[in-house]
Amino acid sequence: METAHKRRRPSLDTIARRLEAAFRADRTVTLKPETALVVAAAVRAFATQPTRDDIVKLVCDRKEPCESFCYPCVSLANRISMLFGGEQR
Ligand SMILES: [Zn+2]
Repeated sequence: METAHKRRRPSLDTIARRLEAAFRADRTVTLKPETALVVAAAVRAFATQPTRDDIVKLVCDRKEPCESFCYPCVSLANRISMLFGGEQR
């Protein structure tokens, strides 16, 4: 018999795939409490997704954040933004 402490928490990718499958099948989804907590944290992180310009300001090495946004910072910020957006590489 499976006990609570032995249960493995599904990965975010696994949860996302199951939710997408339920959507495609037009099925209602019920989440276990521990899965609901993971989904709540993921939704909260998604809702606070920084903009590309926010990321540029964080990653720029200059003492003053680059005014016109230097190319390496914009490039890195774009890649980070794509990851936040869930784009596959
Ligand atoms: Zn910069």
